[in-house]
Formats: sequence, C-alpha cells, structure tokens
Amino acid sequence: MQGYHGRFLEVDLNTKTTTDFPLSEDFCKDYIGGATMAAALVFDRVKAGTDPLAPENAMVMATGPFTGTSLPMVSRYAIGGLSPLTGFWGEATSGGVFPFRLKGAGWDGIIITGKAASPVYLYLNNGQAEIRDAGHLWGKDSYETQKLIKEERGNDKAGVACIGPAGENLIRYACVINDRGRAAGRCGFGALMGSKNLKAVVAAGNTRPESADAGKVSELAKQAVKDIKGNLVSVALSEYGTLMYMDMGMVLGDTPAKYFTSNVFPVSEVTGQALRQNYTVANYACRGCPIGCGRELKNFKPDLDIDGPEYETTVGFGPLCLNTDFDTIIEANHICNCHGIDTISAGVSVAYAFYLYEQGVLTKDQVGIELNWGDGRAVVALVEKIVGQEGIGVLLSKGVLAMARELGRDEGEAAQVKGLEMPMHEGRAFHGLAVSYATGPRGACHLKGPYYDVDLGNMVLEYMILPSDRLVSAGKGEPAAKFQSFKDLFDALTLCKFAPLQVPQLCDMLNALTGWNFGPEELLAAGDRSINIKRAVSNRFGLTRDHDILPKICLDALDEGTTAGVAPDMEVMLREYYQYRGWDWATGRPTRDKLVELGLNQVAEDFYPQ
Ligand code: SF4
Repeated sequence: MQGYHGRFLEVDLNTKTTTDFPLSEDFCKDYIGGATMAAALVFDRVKAGTDPLAPENAMVMATGPFTGTSLPMVSRYAIGGLSPLTGFWGEATSGGVFPFRLKGAGWDGIIITGKAASPVYLYLNNGQAEIRDAGHLWGKDSYETQKLIKEERGNDKAGVACIGPAGENLIRYACVINDRGRAAGRCGFGALMGSKNLKAVVAAGNTRPESADAGKVSELAKQAVKDIKGNLVSVALSEYGTLMYMDMGMVLGDTPAKYFTSNVFPVSEVTGQALRQNYTVANYACRGCPIGCGRELKNFKPDLDIDGPEYETTVGFGPLCLNTDFDTIIEANHICNCHGIDTISAGVSVAYAFYLYEQGVLTKDQVGIELNWGDGRAVVALVEKIVGQEGIGVLLSKGVLAMARELGRDEGEAAQVKGLEMPMHEGRAFHGLAVSYATGPRGACHLKGPYYDVDLGNMVLEYMILPSDRLVSAGKGEPAAKFQSFKDLFDALTLCKFAPLQVPQLCDMLNALTGWNFGPEELLAAGDRSINIKRAVSNRFGLTRDHDILPKICLDALDEGTTAGVAPDMEVMLREYYQYRGWDWATGRPTRDKLVELGLNQVAEDFYPQ
C-alpha cells in the first residue's frame, strides 16, 4: 500500500503489551485516516454502556495519508474516542511537529486501551515501541513534561503529546498538549489519558511510506504553497494570527459577548493589531506551513515566553466575560496550557459563572470573590480555581451542562450542544452554522462546517455550496450538510482547516500519494461516510434527534448588533439536513438504506439486525 504504513500500533496498558494491527487497503479507502479512521476503530471496539473513563474505552491517535509528506499544512493528527465530557463520540486535532513525528515513528496511528498500574509514557521510535515509567513526571505541567522527556530521551526533536495535572485529575475538559502550547483541545481527551495513567506519547524517527507518484506529489506541493501564499486570508492569518477575525466577527455579529446574550463589545482592545502593538509577538508555524498562524509572546513576564492566545480563547476569556484586559486573557490562556485544559470549555464555563452571579444564583460566599462583568482578575481567579479543583472551581470544571443541572437551572441556559461548550462563532450570524453546530459529530464545533466561510464568499462549486443571505434559514440544511462532510474530511486526510485548497487539488494529492482514483464525488461520499460512522458511535451511546438542538441562550434573537431581531429557524434547516443525510426523523439514526449505500454494513447489521 502506498501513502500509508498500513498498520496501527495496539497498546494494551493492562498488560503493558504492544502489537501491530494491520490495515487493509479497502479500510483505508473507506475511512481515509485521522478522526474518521479513529471512529471506525472505536465503533468496532467500544461496547454500548462503556464509561468514557473506564479502561475499556479506546483512545485512538491517528495520522492521515497527507501527514508527514511534502504537502503544506499537513502536520496534523487526530484523537478519537468516547468523550469524557459528553459521553458521545469525541474528537480533537492538533498541529505542530508532533504529528509529523508520529507518522515518522512507523505507524499510521495508535489504539490505546486498558489502564497502567502506575504512570507511564509510550515511546515510539522508527518501528520500536516501549512503555516507560512516568512516575517522576506525574504532577508536572505540560511544558515541564515536554522538556523533561526530551532531555531524558536525549532527543530535542522528539514529538511529545502529554497531559498536565488537569488530565491526571480527570477534569472533564482536560486536553492533550504538544509542541509547547498546541492543543488537541476539545472533548476531554486529557482526562481519558489520565484515566489510563498515560502521561505522554513520545514519537521519534523518520520512517515514511512511499508515495505512488512522488514527482506528482512534489509538483502539487509547490502549486499548493503558491496558492496558500497568494490567498488574502492566509496573509491576514500570517500577520495577526486567528485574532485577525476579531473585529470583523464583531461587525458581523459573529463574535459572542456577555455569555451569548450580546454581540456588542469594544473589540479594538483585544484584536490581533492590539496584540502586536502591546506585546513582543513572534509567529509559530506547524511543520511545513507557509502561514504560521500561531503566536508566541516574548518576555510576557521576565524570562517567560508565552503561547497564544488564539481567537477562540481570547473571546472566551475576553468579550464573553466583557473583559478588555488583554494581560488577564493571556494569563488565563497560559494557566490552561500549563495544566492542560480546553480554553473554549473553560472560557464558556467561566462566563456562565459571571452570568449566574448576575442572576443571583451564585453568591460571593459560594464563589469566594465578587464576579462583576469585565473583571479580568476574577477571570484568572476562576481559572485558577478550576485547575486547582478549589471551591466553585470543582463545579466549573464539569462544564456548563453539568453546572446547569446541578444548580437546577433550565438546560437551555447551558451554552453547549451534546455537552460540548459552544465555540466563539454565532449561529445567529450565519444560519448555516447554526445547523452545523446542532448536528456536529462531536457537538458544538466550529471546525466541522464553519459556514461563515461559505457565506463570506468561499464557495465549493463542485458540491454547489454557494454563498447566500447569511440570515436566511430556508435552503441552508443541505449545503450545510455537504460542507460539514467536506470539512470533516480535512481531519481524515489530515489537513489544516485554514488551507485554501480546492476539491480537485485534494483529489489529485490523495491519488498521487496512494495511486487511487478519487474524484469529487468519491471524496464527498467519504465525508458522508465519516459523518455517519461518527454518528453511529454516538447513537450507540444514546444520541437521538433530541440532541440536535441549539440551547435557547444561543438561539433567541438578540436586540442589538447586526443580527438584531433575527433567529435561525432550526426545524426548517434540520428537516433539510436530515433529508440529505438519510437520517430517520424519529430516531435520529442513519436509515438502513443509507448505511448500506455508504458501505457501512456492519453498522446496518448492528442497528437493524435482520
Ligand atoms: S495555519 Fe496555523 S494551524 Fe494551520 S498549519 Fe499553519 S500554523 Fe498550523
């Protein structure tokens, strides 16, 4: 097989054994790689009723056919499994150098089950796998852990993906950190690693699969770099990072403020420009990326360089809490990175605490401090309470759905979908995004169907996904479903979502690497299959159509800003979406016919035994 090593590493931490799991070419064609392949492996292995933190839950780390090649923007990997935060299918991706090293270690990915008797880390190097003691690393933060492991291995180039103390303490939205501050942030995989006593996965080596047509790959890579450099959004990302969107987002009503009850905020104080003006900023690029959207702040404090913050983080600790103090946003972000928690879930949980305080539901006695909107020091204090598992921090560390339930509040007040906190784009500003959020394979996800891209002019002609009035719902369900499938493929291939590449280019790249003959139709079918296998995992754990909703707080029309008075019509879009997907309106499951059409025969057999 070309483009793949053709094998995963199976790691059983109960017995501390490792074995190779061979991949067939048909399996690779069906599930491509990354998060999609992870979902297929999880569907086969994880039985209904499994607790996400039980040793039986499988955690898959997977690369794709693009990872580790000369193509640009492809040093990415995905983690998949049952989410400790949501209890449904979960996935997270990250860039940096680690994904390049993971593929270079000699496997397409790893499947980890069981629980080690004491802390360990996994070391992979050019086809050799070892499980090593990590007792001396337990309790260390994510930066220190990466540094110590590299020193211990005598290899500064090794890739390290690790957890901080939050993962060890099973905080439900703990994340996995690599390359200093890059995060596979969402769905709580840091807790899953912690539950397995697995402190880190370390990858080294330079074992590469052969490409079917290396000359063509190189030609396509050169053209792609040209296209990326010539793209205006790429230029803006390079200049200001993801924060380049901040002021445009606010103008469009796409950037939420005051815990999703507003979209008006003095945004100029927390833009990419403001960051550049007030701090010493350097760019960070994932391996092989000509953009470099990552930020590093030099000497934030004496002798302390700090990562980020990204757009999502800045909004969560900034506008969402009405906080304009950039120092405190950066500080909150750094605490999250050190301890290893997802900044989106943390930001939304912190903002919910401010909201509840204003409503009189939380009091100063319960919180330990006053929570007045805009108080940046209070934002930092709450984040410290979360990672320190102190006082109110314990409740906030469970996420907003658990917070609403424990406090006896209406669940419509919890800004989440399927238990995953809302990201920092507004379904009210782009109705196609609202239906993408409601149906996202891991819950509220701005990366699977970022429909603002479409309505801002980035059409996908091959699938007739065309820009239209962003505040109209009718007619959005089908293109949103197709766009979700298309973007889902990026996490299978694996390719950065910011890569401004076209469908024919992606087909050519895949074919040149593998020798296959994918056209646009086969590519979309692979995306549809991907969404459905992930859906099947969640259906097995109780997901129904009732979960395909947006919470009231993110749906009710606002009375100010450029979206004032307009709310998405979810029923109209969901019916169109279900129609395209071939999902059953009563149960929320893919129909038998749809599963068979997509070649998901095992799922069809499980769901509809004959
Ligand atoms: S655009 Fe940013 S996230 Fe994407 S590959 Fe480049 S540096 Fe990494």
